[in-house]
Amino acid sequence: MEPILTINNLTKKFGYLTAVKDLSFTINKGNVYGILGPNGSGKSTTLGVVLNVVNKTSGEFHWFDGHTSTHQALKKVGAIIERPNFYPYMTAYQNLKLVCKIKEVDASKIEEKLRLVELIDRKDSKFSTFSLGMKQRLAIASALLNDPEILILDEPTNGLDPKGIHQIREIIKEIASAGTTILLASHLLDEVEKVCTHVVVLRKGEKLYSGRVDEMITSFGFFELKCANQDEL
Ligand code: ADP
Ligand code: MG
Repeated sequence: MEPILTINNLTKKFGYLTAVKDLSFTINKGNVYGILGPNGSGKSTTLGVVLNVVNKTSGEFHWFDGHTSTHQALKKVGAIIERPNFYPYMTAYQNLKLVCKIKEVDASKIEEKLRLVELIDRKDSKFSTFSLGMKQRLAIASALLNDPEILILDEPTNGLDPKGIHQIREIIKEIASAGTTILLASHLLDEVEKVCTHVVVLRKGEKLYSGRVDEMITSFGFFELKCANQDEL
C-alpha cells in the first residue's frame, strides 16, 4: 500500500478548547476516505492542519513518503475547503484559465475537467449565473486542473438540493474510479456509506473508529454510530 497522508498523534488546541486530540490515521492511495463526525468534531481543523492553513499544537503528519516538504507535497493535493469563490463576471472557462495561469498548469485540460463535472454546456456562462451546485462543481474542476494525487473536499454537498447532492456524489465516485484518492469530510452517515470505502469517525476531536466503511457497522455498532453522529453528543 502506498501512503498518501500519515497523521501521528495530532493535537490542535484553540486556547482551552481541544479541537483535535491525539489523532492518528493513514490514507492510502486509491481509496475513498471519509472523515465522519457531527459539527464541531474537528473535521475541518484536521484538514486545515494537513493543508498548512492551521498550525498544529503537537503531533505530526507527513504527505506521501515523507521525503518531500509539505509545501512541495501540497502541489499534488487538490482541496476545496471553503465555499467556491470565483470572479462573478467571468465565465466558467475564463475563471479556470485564470486558475491555470496562477497555478502555472497547462490550460489544455480545462474542457476535460468541465466535462467531468458536467459543466461543459455552461463553459461560457458567467459564474454569477451558477447555482450553488454548479459553483461547487466548478470548484471541483478547478481543484483537478493539475491532476492531483488526492482530492480533499470539506462538506461538498452542504446546502444543495437532493438532485445536486446526488450529482456531486456521483462525480466524486467517478473521480475516484479514475484513480484519484479522495478525502471527504462529512457529518452525514449516509454520504460516507454511499461514497467512501474507508472512514475515520470523530467525536469531540477524538477518533472513535477507523477502518473500512463496510466493516464500520459490525465492528462499531449502528446505534453507537448514530449516537456519535448526533450534534448534542
Ligand atoms: P467540524 O469541521 O467537524 O465541524 P471544526 O474543526 O470546525 O469541526 O471545529 C472543531 C472545534 O474547534 C469546534 O469546537 C470549533 O468551534 C473549534 N474551532 C474551529 N476553528 C476555530 C478557531 N479558529 N478558533 C477557535 N475555535 C475554533
Ligand atoms: Mg467543518
